[in-house]
Amino acid sequence: MTRNDELFDRARISIPGGVNSPVRAYRSVGGTPRFLTSAKGAYVTDSDGTQYVDLVSSWGPAILGHAHPEVVAAVQDAASRGLSFGASTPGETELAELVRARVTSGGVSPIEKIRLVSTGTEATMTAIRLARGFTGRDVLIKFAGHYHGHSDSLLAEAGSGLATLGLPASAGVPAATAALTLVLPYNDLDAVREAFALHPGRIAAIITEAAAANMGVVAPDAGFNAALSAIAHEHGALLIVDEVLTGFRVHPAGYWALESEAQVAAGSDAAVSQSYVPDIVTYGKIIGGGMPLAALGGRADVMDFLAPLGPVYQAGTLSGNPVAVAAGIATLTLADASVYAHLDTTAELLSASVSEALADVGVAHAVQRAGNLFSFVFGDYSPSAGGAPRSYADVQRQDAFRYPAFFHSMLDSGVSLPPSVFEAWFVSAAHDDEAIGRILAALPAAARAAASA
Ligand code: PMP
Repeated sequence: MTRNDELFDRARISIPGGVNSPVRAYRSVGGTPRFLTSAKGAYVTDSDGTQYVDLVSSWGPAILGHAHPEVVAAVQDAASRGLSFGASTPGETELAELVRARVTSGGVSPIEKIRLVSTGTEATMTAIRLARGFTGRDVLIKFAGHYHGHSDSLLAEAGSGLATLGLPASAGVPAATAALTLVLPYNDLDAVREAFALHPGRIAAIITEAAAANMGVVAPDAGFNAALSAIAHEHGALLIVDEVLTGFRVHPAGYWALESEAQVAAGSDAAVSQSYVPDIVTYGKIIGGGMPLAALGGRADVMDFLAPLGPVYQAGTLSGNPVAVAAGIATLTLADASVYAHLDTTAELLSASVSEALADVGVAHAVQRAGNLFSFVFGDYSPSAGGAPRSYADVQRQDAFRYPAFFHSMLDSGVSLPPSVFEAWFVSAAHDDEAIGRILAALPAAARAAASA
């Protein structure tokens, strides 16, 4: 029995399922979750002392790699001055200004005001309450396979851990609440238009992941997000773009800016307009650099609907926590153009190498990309079989049974992947040649394991 086995047995006595977040349990891949004791750069170390190249990156926050010395120093400095005051601090405004200045493209910023909260769940939960309060309407549109955290309104067909566990929705959500959320197929604008036609004057907002990355990666069609914005506004509703996962990862200013730049690169007469300005944007993960911090930002007239100025209530004992804010400021400041260039190159190399290894042993698959986020679907996604997945239904029909063998072979070779085929892979600035070399070396055996699964 390994130390990990012992720790898992012990954890299961006191903690439901032995984990404090379901995606950490190896439910779909089987085996014992690794209990981590430390992490540095591109590596994590478990309680047996085994070191792994990490492609989970804390599910996104560790963009600079783990325990970056300057982030740790900023956290230590802030901690030495007090852990939490329950009062305003100068750092909160500094972080707000930093985000506003950074999330700009073509001279436009969707972030006129921003409020700091502690988790992505709180950010999206508050965003939908704000949209409902601002519009005076109740109904929401979300897309199947999109995950926006675990608040009642947003758990239907929600991707991430629910996809992994095969749950359509969560028990415990009142039917009356669920009935106010319309779940539509992703990348289907006709379905969106039809929903507005069926529920005139009742839809408060559309919420969408800037690029879906919680059912594996499924990018929006070119112009999809811009069309959502146009349709929402035509009907007096708001567009909430969830950048908890994509924000500050795929581009210094998020997926929204990546799309705007693609539009510019394609020329102003591009057939499909990709430019839009979201009404509310949510952030998490990287904005806190590994500490509990998230945010929602957007149009000043909408954001001012929040208390104390407006009637929509939201609050938090630990909101804008000074230690978390220090980690966020340090992380965003260090995440410069060279970091994004490295993430892009590394994502390109790794996704192509995995694809080549799978092709070499005849495993049908498709590479899914949204900027430097990537994942793989197993199965025939050739053009004659319908092409690359564009929706939750498309990814659900994959040969998911191949992933556990692939995952465990990589783990045995010292590479830690997300323990579910329905999750993106996360690279960091610390994935240097040595770390990448270790991943590449592990691929042929993992591909053979997938082939014989
Ligand atoms: N939105 C998206 C797009 C996410 O990926 C996540 C978490 N993976 C959340 C919201 C919820 O964030 P948190 O886990 O911090 O509550």
